[in-house]
Amino acid sequence: LPPFDPADPLGLEDLLDPEDRAVRDTVRSWAADRVLPHIAEWYERGELPGIRDLARELGSIGALGMSLTGYGCAGASAVQYGLACLELEAADSGIRSLVSVQGSLAMYALHRFGSEEQKERWLPRMASGEVIGCFGLTEPDHGSDPAGMRTYAKRDGSDWLLTGRKMWITNGSVAGVAVVWAGTDDGIRGFVVPTDTPGFSAPEIRHKWSLRASVTSELVLDEVRLPADAVLPEAKGLRGPLSCLSHARYGIVWGSMGAARASFESALDYSRTREQFGKPLAGFQLTQAKLADMAVELHKGILLAHHLGTRMDAGRLRPEQVSFGKLNNVREAIEICRTARTILGANGISLEYPVMRHATNLESVLTYEGTVEMHQLVLGKALTGVDAFR
Ligand code: FAD
Repeated sequence: LPPFDPADPLGLEDLLDPEDRAVRDTVRSWAADRVLPHIAEWYERGELPGIRDLARELGSIGALGMSLTGYGCAGASAVQYGLACLELEAADSGIRSLVSVQGSLAMYALHRFGSEEQKERWLPRMASGEVIGCFGLTEPDHGSDPAGMRTYAKRDGSDWLLTGRKMWITNGSVAGVAVVWAGTDDGIRGFVVPTDTPGFSAPEIRHKWSLRASVTSELVLDEVRLPADAVLPEAKGLRGPLSCLSHARYGIVWGSMGAARASFESALDYSRTREQFGKPLAGFQLTQAKLADMAVELHKGILLAHHLGTRMDAGRLRPEQVSFGKLNNVREAIEICRTARTILGANGISLEYPVMRHATNLESVLTYEGTVEMHQLVLGKALTGVDAFR
């Protein structure tokens, strides 16, 4: 029998092929080199300095629009994309959010619903990280229930005039292109908005206590004039944005386990060296119970993520299954971080260690891309056949 590996108690490494491992190792070493040495400082300052350079570097390692094909995208498998999300979020959820929004929301929307001209105009420059994208669905008064959105695009001759407000938009202030969802006389449609169009502005939202190393913005759309071909031709109704969200959520199923892994490793390390009552914390039964429970949830979560990834690669992943994964993994990840925090005692609240940063980041991850309650309702409806959303 192979020896027991504390870093991989279930032997999940055996599920990966050499290409999967190569992708994982590339992303892990990029994050170790470019994010980990600086992240505590960026977090404390509430900034992501050098975001444009980071985006280009992420582009050069193929991490942007990673599982899309053509137009300069890497054409990686869903499992490989998931592994990349895990490694990025093990550094910080803010970096993973940058990549998720770019690849799974903005680029995915263009790739799946865009015209050939829209794809050729934007995707290669987004894949390389030259252009950052954002995805505007949420509004100040419409979060979980986007069907009620007020942002509206009306016709003016053959042009569109887009007016409204979007809230909590990741990458908004640094984006060169925004995919904005709006009501029209024809139902909800997606619009490709170059952010230098007059009437568009994206003030940054400050004073966040979560995802501090991530740009979050409001989008203000004041009669933004767009040509007729700014609309995404293939997306009609809420089905469009919801399918993008399902793709991004899939990445979160993996990513959240990265935050959990980093916090678990920090607690395990700490418990081996910190002594109280004359012996290391790791030698107390109560600490071992915590570590064992954390490891069980962590590796079960990774196994679940891998299972969903193989289903996605086989074209058999249902949105309800993504809800299942997001609900479980983010909820367990936050629990793992909180338990890790207790093992570190007072040091657990310090930015010298990653656990509190991950725990507070996961508060956003718990809410965005569908709250816990929304995913419970999705599963509740699928299990019972009864819609309890309203
Ligand atoms: P609400 O919808 O007001 O919900 C508040 C609470 O009520 C939640 O607990 C919710 O689950 C619960 N609730 C609502 N309806 C029901 C119901 N029927 N039954 C039971 N409970 C219910 N959005 C984007 O479009 N693009 C982005 O890039 C983006 N980035 C984000 C980045 C960050 C850091 C954050 C925090 C959010 C981001 N969001 C983004 C917004 C996010 O998707 C929304 O916050 C989320 O959908 C929840 O909406 P809300 O905050 O308006 O909460």
